[in-house]
Amino acid sequence: MLERLQKVIAQSGITSRRKAEKLIEEGKVKVNGKVVTELGVKVSNVDKIEVNNVPIEKERFVYYLFYKPRGVISAVSDDKDRKTVTDYFGNVNERLFPVGRLDYDTSGLLLMTNDGDFMNLLIHPRYQMDKEYIVKTKGIPSKEDLVKFKKGIRSEQDILKAKQVKIMSVDKGKQTAIVKVILHQGKNRQVRRMFDAIHTPVSKLRRERFAFLTLEGLKPGEHRKLTPHEVNQLK
Ligand code: URA
Repeated sequence: MLERLQKVIAQSGITSRRKAEKLIEEGKVKVNGKVVTELGVKVSNVDKIEVNNVPIEKERFVYYLFYKPRGVISAVSDDKDRKTVTDYFGNVNERLFPVGRLDYDTSGLLLMTNDGDFMNLLIHPRYQMDKEYIVKTKGIPSKEDLVKFKKGIRSEQDILKAKQVKIMSVDKGKQTAIVKVILHQGKNRQVRRMFDAIHTPVSKLRRERFAFLTLEGLKPGEHRKLTPHEVNQLK
């Protein structure tokens, strides 16, 4: 794949994209032994790139499955100084970012990577993989409500649909229910908005599964590397 030279330099971790552009303009960057000063140049991973006569290290892509706890932001930084998902990866050198997001109060399975193309593939609306959630509700949804979920429910500008939905248990005394919901869509706060639309708000939400990946073997706050086979199966 061809990528812009400044992007490849920035991805190697030695500097920002803006500074990489400056280095190129200053004549400090060589591609296959020749100085390049134009910004439009594209390179592939067979090209040899040097900055100040030092070859750059090619970026190594890494992929993690993370059990996000509740009360953590799905971002790399937070202006209110709250805990973010990257705080759990202090021992990892690569600059990771989350694949999509889970709400602050949602726990569960979140993929983390430094591979932007992989992230874009997985969050694209065309990518139709199961996302399975376990939902605790305040109030008990009716069968008709769940039929509405499968047909699609209007919320703001969106039609929100569930692929599958099943009531797992009901506590009539406490007026709560546990519901399993499988989505293919991935709209912002989708599960919470769907339950708000039937006036049965969510009190707890956990993502249990993403495609064939589950939280098995992990506790909240823990992560593991995906195997190369798992990564290829997701692509
Ligand atoms: N749906 C939600 O409402 N929140 C999440 O975090 C994920 C799906």
